[in-house]
Amino acid sequence: MTVPLFDTLAIIGPGLIGSSIARAARAARAQNAVRSIVATARSPKTRARVVELGLADRVVDTNAQAVEGADLVIVCVPVGACGAVAKEIAPHLKAGAVVSDVGSVKASIVRDMGRHLPSTVNFVPAHPVAGTEHSGPDAGFAELFENRWCILTPPEGTDPEAVAKLAAFWRLLGANVEVMTPEHHDLVLAVTSHLPHLIAYTIVGTADELESVTRSEVLKFSAGGFRDFTRIAASDPVMWRDVFLNNKDAVLEMLGRFNEDVAALTKAIRRGDGAALEEHFIRTRAIRRGVIEAGQDTPAPDFGRPHGHEE
Ligand code: NAP
Repeated sequence: MTVPLFDTLAIIGPGLIGSSIARAARAARAQNAVRSIVATARSPKTRARVVELGLADRVVDTNAQAVEGADLVIVCVPVGACGAVAKEIAPHLKAGAVVSDVGSVKASIVRDMGRHLPSTVNFVPAHPVAGTEHSGPDAGFAELFENRWCILTPPEGTDPEAVAKLAAFWRLLGANVEVMTPEHHDLVLAVTSHLPHLIAYTIVGTADELESVTRSEVLKFSAGGFRDFTRIAASDPVMWRDVFLNNKDAVLEMLGRFNEDVAALTKAIRRGDGAALEEHFIRTRAIRRGVIEAGQDTPAPDFGRPHGHEE
């Protein structure tokens, strides 16, 4: 039998992402990723649920107990809570351990966790670009990371061997891996994830506050496009609060550009400039094709939703 990549994996915060890591690490194809999994959550309720679901070999009460002797520690809590968790686990970490996270923002994580972690461990922040609008240990599934990207943002001077080992771990979970600086990550994700979420939160809020169109009409006729925004706008409020608080500059930069583009389209509509509108929509349709060609969505119509007449 081959030696596992990491002997013991500690998962702190087995919600959607943490529990998916546990499930994926245990899945047959990843059996050599880790030998044993220990998990902990702040609430007794989540800890009890993780025991019921059988997601870990051991479920312990504290973060300190979880990291004791662990070779890979993955902190899976909201971005704003990562610094406090790092401070708490720092004295209990095994020398040589790889410490990582899954936060959707990276520069603030490098700052907030990095300042507490001892030089005896290898800190390799990570962000699996995969998720759903659901939360908690029941929401996770082993295939979540299949053919999705996991971005690693090691601070300067990190041991390349530790980075390679964490990259190998994520590949065993089905992900593709890319390495970049935390600042670049935050800029890329501001446009691919954070801005779309902000737009969805805005549109859904706007529709809810109309006086001339009733809420029941909005819901009834939502298949016209609105419902696709409601999925994103149903994402976890605490997680997304922390994303915007911690990626402020990049989001404001992208929002500034977005507002300029909205102004240009507003002008085209006001002036009846059909050519400008059509040209814009031709460009965006090509981007949709690019997403499908990159294997990041299904080519099936309507996001592959089943319709009445289909088998
Ligand atoms: P989740 O399902 O809500 O799970 C969050 C976990 O963190 C739970 O175990 C929760 O414990 C714990 N937690 C919450 N607040 C905490 C605090 N203040 N201190 C300590 N523990 C706390 O969230 P998730 O969607 O897995 O997100 C976790 C991380 O993954 C976030 O950093 C997020 O940015 C990142 N991420 C999310 C997605 C996504 O689509 N959801 C995608 C990629 C990355 P209890 O259950 O005991 O409350």
